[in-house]
Amino acid sequence: MQIAFIGLGNMGAPMAINLVKAGHSVKAFDLSQDAIAKVVAAGGHVATSAQDAVQGAEAIVTMLPASQHVEALFLGNGNAPGLLQHIAKGALVIDSSTIAAATSQKVAKAAEAAGIDFIDAPVSGGTGGAIAGTLTFMVGGSDAQLDRARPLLEKMGANIFHAGAVGAGQTAKICNNMLLGILMVGTSEAIALGVANGLDPKVLSEIMRRSSGGNWALEKYNPFPGVHENAPASKGYAGGFGTDLMLKDLGLAQENAITTKSSTPLGGMARAIYAAHSIAGHGGEDFSSVIKMLQKK
Ligand code: NAD
Repeated sequence: MQIAFIGLGNMGAPMAINLVKAGHSVKAFDLSQDAIAKVVAAGGHVATSAQDAVQGAEAIVTMLPASQHVEALFLGNGNAPGLLQHIAKGALVIDSSTIAAATSQKVAKAAEAAGIDFIDAPVSGGTGGAIAGTLTFMVGGSDAQLDRARPLLEKMGANIFHAGAVGAGQTAKICNNMLLGILMVGTSEAIALGVANGLDPKVLSEIMRRSSGGNWALEKYNPFPGVHENAPASKGYAGGFGTDLMLKDLGLAQENAITTKSSTPLGGMARAIYAAHSIAGHGGEDFSSVIKMLQKK
């Protein structure tokens, strides 16, 4: 299948490479030439613009930072026309970015008017899951649209959930990431407390992993350097999932909580903690670097 892939960052590049490995013809576009080069080195094709990427594409996958990027790309902004008018009628758009459900619904409505299928399919599983092709997809769209997308999603992920109508994937994603943000702070607090008392972070982490405090961070993504060799914490908090992206997701969760009059006290506190961490200059580091806020200097 001819596929356009737009947004080749920490997540998008390995996802696009898995589509190349599955035998698809992938035209790759990103604002960064280095990002495009990674996918081209794996057998993808260079696109000189987003418009060039979607030329003749039967499917378009996007993996962009936030709502404003997705909306500006597809619907246009001020002087630039939207990409929807360059996409072939009948094509399928899979947006895997984590954005506001309302933005997914707005873009899907415009796509429908142009005869294009648009689904939201945000992911969980981190960069490790993106590389291994074991991501979890949370899809918002119709049954028929998910059926169309499934063969491609299966090449990038191991779990595909149908959350509901368009936007529902995003709602599931922000619930998950609110929980992840909270548990990373909690895990960091517990490890910092143990270390302040002279415990070995590796031993303490293993005790908690196998006890009632066990969670995904202790399993795969320990915030303390050196505990998990491949976790961002052991690589100077480089790559992974940026603090500012987590801050965005916690903000989306709070906006939603306000709209639905939901009580999310820990989600609100976690957002404030990541905001302070970002202000302190750690916005570009992996979100597990939040442990720096909690460690004794
Ligand atoms: P990233 O910052 O590493 O990559 C984003 C890429 O988009 C960059 O390469 C940037 O140049 C590109 N980009 C921005 N605007 C563009 C445009 N108009 N046209 C083309 N390219 C453009 O981010 P990421 O970590 O890959 O995350 C992408 C999305 O996936 C975010 O919504 C994030 O919340 C979500 N997500 C990330 C992770 C993770 O572990 N990193 C996990 C799950 C979900």
